[in-house]
Amino acid sequence: MKKKLIAGNWKMNGSLAANEALVKALLAGLPAQPCEVALCVPALYLAQLQTLVAGSRIELGAQDISMHESGAYTGELSGAMFKEFGVRYAIVGHSERRQYHGETDQLVAAKAKTALASGVTPIVCVGETLAEREAGKTEEVVKRQLAAVIHENGHCISEIVVAYEPVWAIGTGKTASPEQAQQVHGVLRAQLKAASAQADRIHILYGGSMNAANAAQLLGQPDIDGGLVGGASLKAPDFLSIIAATT
Ligand code: PEP
Repeated sequence: MKKKLIAGNWKMNGSLAANEALVKALLAGLPAQPCEVALCVPALYLAQLQTLVAGSRIELGAQDISMHESGAYTGELSGAMFKEFGVRYAIVGHSERRQYHGETDQLVAAKAKTALASGVTPIVCVGETLAEREAGKTEEVVKRQLAAVIHENGHCISEIVVAYEPVWAIGTGKTASPEQAQQVHGVLRAQLKAASAQADRIHILYGGSMNAANAAQLLGQPDIDGGLVGGASLKAPDFLSIIAATT
């Protein structure tokens, strides 16, 4: 059975001093649970984090990645650059990037492809807005978003991580119920199975106000293989409690 994966998304938070204190507290309290742990931090801090987590089981992640390998793309960061800093994961298609940076399904798919080509595992985010859920379009939206990534990545699809993040639950304190989340995860798993014989090995994470109080129930669902955690990943006791809930 695959280990659960708990990935923190720090978003645009942190400072040299705060990062050091947070990572030291995480390392001191990391429970024995055999789950995988990753921290997706602002790219400027990857070098600092690489030193702080050296020798531990905490993996590093970026929060975005360029669809290009190198060249005249001012402001972009490539997979090869991330590899130099020991980065294992890159979030692609987070709803904040889709919403504030106009990222399309096709761009997200292209980013996932470039990440895979450079040896970085993309954490592909999909999720519906509140309006889409209320219009009964949840399945249609998440399947469309994932289909673009499957189409672009073919047989490599078993190498990605998927994160189901209902937009209405991100940073709002509203969480999908375990049943609501499992229902969508089941849809995504079926879609992945239709595309790959190895779909069972793909981690499908839940994200959206996951916290110490709701993690165990969410992580207990059959198709929820871990969590992508925003706000609660900035507080060591909360993030450690979520990790401890992966039993
Ligand atoms: C996220 O941004 O990926 C996220 C899940 O945020 P939060 O946990 O704060 O809802």
